[in-house]
Amino acid sequence: MRSATVSAVLLLALALLVTAVPAAQEAQEAQEAPVGPVYTEPEFGEVYVLPLFHASLLLQYGDTVIQVDPTSRVDYYDFPDADIVLITDTHGDHFDRDAATMLMALGAKVVAPPAVADEWGGVDLVLENGFGEMVDDVYIQAIPAYNIEHGPAKDVVYHPMGRGNGYVITLGGKRIYISGDTECIEDVQTLENIDIAFMCMNLPFTMSPGEAAECVKKFKPKIVYPYHYRGSDLDVFKWQLEDTPEVEVRILDWYPPSSRLPRPQ
Ligand code: ZN
Repeated sequence: MRSATVSAVLLLALALLVTAVPAAQEAQEAQEAPVGPVYTEPEFGEVYVLPLFHASLLLQYGDTVIQVDPTSRVDYYDFPDADIVLITDTHGDHFDRDAATMLMALGAKVVAPPAVADEWGGVDLVLENGFGEMVDDVYIQAIPAYNIEHGPAKDVVYHPMGRGNGYVITLGGKRIYISGDTECIEDVQTLENIDIAFMCMNLPFTMSPGEAAECVKKFKPKIVYPYHYRGSDLDVFKWQLEDTPEVEVRILDWYPPSSRLPRPQ
């Protein structure tokens, strides 16, 4: 009996040791791992998606690099110089003058809606809702993005019709939709042949995860990434799309813990 107890204690100690060693290694590796978004050379022929922060992301195909809604929270010297910058709206989480100015100085062509051009002289191509144009080898179409319901007061919405742009870009043969700040308006519901969609959600400003999921079911992109999702329950978004297997939900972390990226307020 006694020796059985001793063996049991020894076994337990051994088990603890066995689990403790990888845990310690993990902790050390976590400490040494680079923080924030990490750029790795994209696969040849693939459209590369890198979440940066909240509404900001990098898209790359071959040598063509597109930065969406660049922000001063990101150190852009970590990435290849952007050819194109897309700005969706005037709000600070989409239009950051310093970040846009820096990328422009490094050679990027800046595409934005008229409301941004009214505030800042650095816009190379002003695109109104519904208009499209080639920039380098990339076709860029501005899609309306606005609220129909959510607003700070009765009859006032956070994002009025005509101010912001979502975009559909054709990159590497893929049609990629970036929603900007919008609700599930007709123009979004009727999008066609979208390969990759970036869908916003965060109440009270845009959509709930459930509303965003229902919206995705209307136009059925092949792949959808929730983004601009601060405070949203992504499980709800995922669950609600479980009955739509033709849409693949991909979750990426748009809010990485990082010393370089200050915590969102
Ligand atoms: Zn926003």
